[in-house]
Amino acid sequence: MSTKFLEATKYYVESAAKLLGLAADETKQLETPHREVRVELNIRMDDGTIGTFIGFRVQHDNARGPFKGGIRYHHHVDSEEVTALASLMTWKTAVAGVPFGGAKGGIQVDASKLSEDEKQRLTRRFIDGIHDIIGATTDIPAPDVNTNGQTMAWIFDQYSKYHGYQPGVVTGKPVTLGGSEGREQATGRGAVFATEELLASIGESVAGKRVSIQGFGNVGTWAANDFVAKGAKVTAISDISGGYVNDAGIDVAAAIAHVKKHKSLAGFTGAEHVHGDRVLVHDCDILVPAALSGVLTKENAGDVRAKWIIEGANGPTDPEADEILEKKGVLVLPDIYANCGGVTVSYFEWSQNMQHYYWDEAQVNEALHKVMRRGFANLADARKKHTCSFRKAAFVVGLGRVVEATRLRGL
Ligand code: NAD
Repeated sequence: MSTKFLEATKYYVESAAKLLGLAADETKQLETPHREVRVELNIRMDDGTIGTFIGFRVQHDNARGPFKGGIRYHHHVDSEEVTALASLMTWKTAVAGVPFGGAKGGIQVDASKLSEDEKQRLTRRFIDGIHDIIGATTDIPAPDVNTNGQTMAWIFDQYSKYHGYQPGVVTGKPVTLGGSEGREQATGRGAVFATEELLASIGESVAGKRVSIQGFGNVGTWAANDFVAKGAKVTAISDISGGYVNDAGIDVAAAIAHVKKHKSLAGFTGAEHVHGDRVLVHDCDILVPAALSGVLTKENAGDVRAKWIIEGANGPTDPEADEILEKKGVLVLPDIYANCGGVTVSYFEWSQNMQHYYWDEAQVNEALHKVMRRGFANLADARKKHTCSFRKAAFVVGLGRVVEATRLRGL
């Protein structure tokens, strides 16, 4: 699975390198991660036994600024998955035009089996293992799957024990600890701004569209919330407990309240409970994969009924699926643009931390909107110039910016 994900990322990078006419040695330089760290994490479990876990941090590229990328807690986490995600971050920060490079981290663990106390001990132990390679001007983590503001607060606290008060070492923090207004909403909100740009470019709008969302965590819930606020109808959602469809429109606020109370959608009665995979091929206008990588494959891509796919998740589409979707005329807004709202507001949070001057949510949303509009215009220009998909256009824009910075900095 992770090997496939890493190969897919490599394939997308190399396709863009070809379109840009980059030489093989330069492409290799861009593809190769700067540093990969693997740490053994031993903690005392609540039942008195010793829990042994493995944590990873991969720093991919810092030509354009400090390494930047989330930390994921999931049993699928391995070196290859983290490397693929770190590479995507390099191109994403470049597409967003924020002054960061790319990194990613993760711990191989089934987070659902950990208590809050165990999660805290594991997070602190991970920072013990990597504190000397992260920092506000070197490498700045953020939340990802199964990590959140609380996890970032523990990271900030543990890092501060070694290096003093430095809120800029991590983003996605709670607002009380120097987090930014609007950061929690940013990835889902940015994905909806991206959808609006795409639809406006073909004379359409979000209002009245039927939306199907895979994954109902941070990204999925905020995307659902904003789609509904703009007059769309969310007709299918899913999480680890399965799929939920209601063609009359799901009460998104009720679904979010259910997840807050019960930790998942299990038992949600406002929709028909179906197999989770159904959501990807459900009859809808807009499909938002917002869970894990590699979910759109050559097996199911032909059955996708959406006209537009907005990649909230990282790496949800295999290259074979991408080709099938392109042939079918489905327009795909790729992860490195569609979900760049998160890292964009992380940049705003980091800037606020560095200046000790804080913005209100309206200011954050306006600045985010501007980045998403500019990003879409850049992609549309590259797509026209190279007669290619939005994905290839995004990689061309990202690689172009990183290669320019790399050449200027020299060897
Ligand atoms: P999260 O942990 O908040 O939510 C993940 C959701 O996916 C949960 O609802 C979970 O139940 C669901 N899920 C897990 N396995 C599933 C399966 N097999 N089928 C259906 N649903 C499943 O994570 P998140 O932060 O929302 O991240 C989701 C995706 O978005 C990831 O790919 C992540 O890398 C990407 N992303 C997140 C951010 C961010 O700011 N949080 C930014 C950019 C990209």
